[in-house]
Amino acid sequence: MVSSCDRCTKESVIYLRYSGQHLCRDHFLEMIGKRVRKEVRGQGIIRGEQRIAVAVSGGKDSILLLNLLKEIVEPIRAVSLVALTVDEGIDGYRPSSLDIVREQTDRLGVESKVKSYGDLFGMTMDEMVEKSDLGPCTICGIMRRKCLNVMAKDAGCTVLATGHNLDDMAQTILMNVLSADLDRMARLGPHDRSVEGFIRRSMPLRTIPETETYLSAHLLGLPIHELECPYSETAKRGHYRDLMMSAEEVTPGSRHSLLKFQKQLASLISRSDISTSKCPKCGEPVFVGEGKRSCRACTLLGDLEGAHEKETS
Ligand code: SF4
Ligand code: ZN
Repeated sequence: MVSSCDRCTKESVIYLRYSGQHLCRDHFLEMIGKRVRKEVRGQGIIRGEQRIAVAVSGGKDSILLLNLLKEIVEPIRAVSLVALTVDEGIDGYRPSSLDIVREQTDRLGVESKVKSYGDLFGMTMDEMVEKSDLGPCTICGIMRRKCLNVMAKDAGCTVLATGHNLDDMAQTILMNVLSADLDRMARLGPHDRSVEGFIRRSMPLRTIPETETYLSAHLLGLPIHELECPYSETAKRGHYRDLMMSAEEVTPGSRHSLLKFQKQLASLISRSDISTSKCPKCGEPVFVGEGKRSCRACTLLGDLEGAHEKETS
């Protein structure tokens, strides 16, 4: 039997197990809008900012984020959005999502900038994977972070909004806890202030579970990029996803609790204690605590070039 909405007489489209609510389409979308508005205000995304960078991959989360931010920040006349897209160079996967980005930014009238790993690093992701012993997602994450930081600065932005949902956040927090990585935990966004050279990050969808971002995108008629990255099977993250799902099964609300834990921890760790230096190769910032002089991307590129020289000698 189909249940009706707890707030009106319409048919419910979702049951939220963690809060025990049935909601219809309109009340569900209203709740999503309210949560995102609350995060936008709470994270200070539009405080004094004139240009807000939005990382848009073409996946459901980033497309939803772009649409919601457009609706939320549009009434603030001095603020404009810039969609930043990274083309990693993953054959058979990325090109179709780039089409979605183009179609959505055109429709919304949002400025769009695309940069490829090839443009910035002289090598595609597929080429890097072939030469490196590191896991594809480790390489991809290092390069994407740098690419977005450089792009946001070039676009004159001081804040970068990303489409991380509650599941992404909970998995990352769990990974940091299980590897006792307090430094990474301290650096995890959203950030209340910038650290020299690094663009402040915000995550307006962080309280929304993945099933709900999917349903929102579907109900709003937004395109959903169904293709899976060919490297995703190798991702460690999949194990943490399974762990989180069983925790949620046993104790509904586990993901929210982990997020709350991270928020409490963030208020105890001051970002002013994080110090940076400049990478001697590219001038991008380096966390001093990482014990390296070059940034992680330049270190990785140096290793890849070394591997290439060995192969060709
Ligand atoms: Fe990059 Fe891994 Fe995501 Fe593929 S699954 S886009 S390799 S981070
Ligand atoms: Zn309703």
